[in-house]
Parts: sequence; C-alpha cells; structure tokens
Amino acid sequence: MTSHDTVRLENVWVSYNGTPALEGVNLAVDEHDFLGVIGPNGGGKSTLLKVILGLITPQRGSVTVLGSSPDRSRNRIGYVPQHSDYDRDFPVSVMEVVLMGRYGKRGMLKPYNESDREAAEKVLARVGMLSHARTQIGQLSGGQQQRTFIARALVSDPALLLLDEPTASVDSAMQTDFYELLEQLKKEMAIIMVSHDIGAVSVFVDKIACLNVQLYYHGSREITPEILEATYKCPVQLIAHGDIPHRVLKEH
Ligand code: ADP
Repeated sequence: MTSHDTVRLENVWVSYNGTPALEGVNLAVDEHDFLGVIGPNGGGKSTLLKVILGLITPQRGSVTVLGSSPDRSRNRIGYVPQHSDYDRDFPVSVMEVVLMGRYGKRGMLKPYNESDREAAEKVLARVGMLSHARTQIGQLSGGQQQRTFIARALVSDPALLLLDEPTASVDSAMQTDFYELLEQLKKEMAIIMVSHDIGAVSVFVDKIACLNVQLYYHGSREITPEILEATYKCPVQLIAHGDIPHRVLKEH
C-alpha cells in the first residue's frame, strides 16, 4: 500500500446466510478521489459502505482504511446515511443532530463543550444551515435535512466522506447546490458516493465503479453501455435529468 491510499479492499467477500453480497471486490481510493459507485438495488452498495465503516467484517479478504483497520479509522470517516423521512414531531434540533457527529471524538457520555459547538456552527454555516440551527429536524425539507446530515458527517473533520444515495429525495435545483458543495469538499477529503441513479453519480465524480455483487472498476468516469449492461444484467437506458448536466457516454 502507498501512503496515499485512503481505502484499500483486496479480494473482499461478504455473504448473508450463504448468499453472496460482495464477491472478490478490489478497490483502491486515493486521498482526493471522488468515486461514484453505481449499481442496482440489492447490488451490495450499502454492504460495501458498511465494510469500509468496519460495521461488517468480510468472510474473506482485507480492508484498510486510512492506514489501519476500518474500526480504528471510523472516527475519521464522515458517513451520510440513506435519506429517511423523519417523524415530523421528532424532538431534535438541527444543532443537536450535528453535535451527534462529535461523539466519535468525545465519547457518548461526555457533555458537549464550547469547541464542539463552535465546530457545529462552522459546518452549519458551510452547508448554509446556520440560520436553521434551532429548527426541529422534522420541519425541514428533504434538501435541508440532507445538508444537516452532511454537516453532521463533516463536524468530526473527516479524511473520508461516505454518501449513501444522497440525491434520493432532493429536487434538481437543490442537487446542483449539493454537487457544488461536494466540489469544494473533495479538495479536502476523499469521497465515495453510492447510488442506483446513474445520472446523479456520473456528473461530478472523477471515477466510477459499477457494483452488482462483483465490482467493475473504471479509472475514469466514462462508462460504456457494455459496462452498464454487465452491471445491471440488462440494457440500461440513460436518462438526461432536466437541467442537470449529464455525462455524455461513449458511443457503442
Ligand atoms: P444495495 O445497497 O446496493 O441496495 P445491499 O448491500 O443493501 O445493496 O444488499 C445486498 C444484498 O444483500 C441484497 O440482496 C440484500 O437483500 C442482502 N442483505 C443486505 N443486508 C442484509 C442482512 N442484514 N441480512 C441478510 N441479507 C442482507
């Protein structure tokens, strides 16, 4: 491994009750890579993120994150989970959600101090949510909730950011802001974003991998129809997303 490797998976196998979810996956992500992982639902994308987070130990293969085992590196990983709608009455404010991102640094039972609050305010300002710090999380729009969860992931000053289906419920105007934010963030950290939405992934990422139990890795973001067919096991029609720029794919 080189000192620049942020994530390295070698021949990783994971199965649930004997059914493989990841088969012989190899992946290397460098310091400032922005990798998009696309694949169908059930293709193993969340499993891959859990392996990188150290929440699942593969039955076979090795995983190195930031130079050590995933669980030892976990407090240097920012994780934005798949968007889930909050109960409108869930009594937690935006500020409290972001402060939860400091647990890894402080430990669960220690009270927050001034530097935690300053860090939370700084990231909230960065994602444009400081004026909503006291708003209840359930009162926010999908895009605002997403920004809050990104702030929670950033408050621990991560070297690696993992995003699970980040564009699921965000409208297209918001998505453009979101990608601009990612453009900034990728100067500071490695980013891995997983999605079943090819349009969402292929716009701004630098590298693409296709995951359908096996991982097909591409050093560049150009994807051929053959690769998509191999991944999805069926022909895939590419849809242009309104006013969002989309990657022009190579001709057959
Ligand atoms: P994706 O995120 O691409 O939708 P997942 O990683 O969630 O894919 O799932 C990959 C496969 O593993 C699916 O077939 C799913 O049903 C199965 N799977 C995921 N988590 C579990 C689990 N905890 N127990 C059993 N099967 C699981």
